[in-house]
Amino acid sequence: MIGIKVKEPERKCNDVNCPWHGHLKVRGIAITGKVVSTAMQRTVVVEKERLHYLPKYERYEKRTSRYKAHLPECIDVKKNDIVTIMECRPISKTVHFVVVSKK
Ligand SMILES: [Zn+2]
Repeated sequence: MIGIKVKEPERKCNDVNCPWHGHLKVRGIAITGKVVSTAMQRTVVVEKERLHYLPKYERYEKRTSRYKAHLPECIDVKKNDIVTIMECRPISKTVHFVVVSKK
């Protein structure tokens, strides 16, 4: 139990920074987005798209936000997977989100 209703990972892991099996607590906001990069070790880049309205042209433009998120050992993701990430304490300089489940 980590506070939000998402699918639990099937296997266990020994990652201390895992919200399911380690000591990491999650808090703050939950975001669903697409994995755009898995090049880092145990960290992924998640991108979320939102629509911003332009009154002058009466149209929407796409804006994206990128989040770096820690990937626990019990969750496997590939590029273009849809994941839910949750805010946590800073794990490194730029990482303060953790992947909690994969769609
Ligand atoms: Zn785990």
